[in-house]
Amino acid sequence: MRTAFIQKTTQELIKKYNYEPPIPIEELVKELGLKIRNISTELEIDAKLDPVKKIIIINESQNNIARRRFTIAHELGHFVLRHYINPWDFEDPETGKSYIENEADEFAGSILMPKDFLTKQIKKGTSPRELQSICQVSNQALWVRLEIYRLTKFLSS
Ligand SMILES: [Zn+2]
Repeated sequence: MRTAFIQKTTQELIKKYNYEPPIPIEELVKELGLKIRNISTELEIDAKLDPVKKIIIINESQNNIARRRFTIAHELGHFVLRHYINPWDFEDPETGKSYIENEADEFAGSILMPKDFLTKQIKKGTSPRELQSICQVSNQALWVRLEIYRLTKFLSS
């Protein structure tokens, strides 16, 4: 999976629109020419991207803000990273497994919790709990990011 490329892509988007956490993810979706459509269903569907109509369909019965933000960012990732064009281009040659879901998660994590921002804040002593609230992400999503950016070593116990 293209981790460095994805982190560079999200950094460029944040710079282009002059965003700071909490990244206004729904606004970014609109800037990039997509619409969000809320649907209500009991089905276990979080969201879906319609790349032709440029719509992100999101299940609004999912009303947790942090989760909704991550889900929207994930679907936007599929769009920006063009996963819909040739899905078979995104397979691990060894295992044959697709890595588009991992890439969309990397996009979502790095756009909502930018590396430069998290690094600076952690080194300044901002607590993970505060960062979670500033970035409007789940506790789990934040810790995944701290691991990926190798920042846990800077945390005092
Ligand atoms: Zn996905």
